[in-house]
Amino acid sequence: MTENQDQPDPVWDAQAITAQLGREPRGVWRVAARCSGDWPAVVETDPRLPDGTPFPTLYYLTCRRLNAALSTLEAEGVMAQMQSRLADDSDLQDQYKRAHDQYIAAREQLGDVPEIHGFSAGGMPERVKCLHALVAHSLGVGPGVNPFGDEALELVSARGLWPHPEPCVTVETEVEND
Ligand SMILES: [Zn+2]
Repeated sequence: MTENQDQPDPVWDAQAITAQLGREPRGVWRVAARCSGDWPAVVETDPRLPDGTPFPTLYYLTCRRLNAALSTLEAEGVMAQMQSRLADDSDLQDQYKRAHDQYIAAREQLGDVPEIHGFSAGGMPERVKCLHALVAHSLGVGPGVNPFGDEALELVSARGLWPHPEPCVTVETEVEND
């Protein structure tokens, strides 16, 4: 496998995502953020799959190590703390609502899918239900948009878990490279 490529290679990306997820990426997709060794970290998917199924998850986290680090945060009760702060902070409510609106607007740039109008991800705009979805949004669009995605990334960064120095998937033979 070639790492640190100068140019993204869609075939290599598809192989890398398949190794990360254990299945091929669905629909029409592109890499929205990367982790170590230029592995994909977030995949952006068009909102309707080729078979017609609506696909609301614009940003999906593929990095196994970041997925695991966020699952740990969730198990520690971080989402309940975020949820209770959201209930008491109108500025945070406004930011989170803007993140929700931005998510939907970005998705609508890729296609109008009436079945998922008004629906974003991760519990937005009123609930904190999935750090993986919120962090995927933060990585996909950059800092300053999703307050809880940014915060979760800061927490895993403070633990030295993001960006992660190790290969994203350790068993390189999981990716066929010819
Ligand atoms: Zn990774």
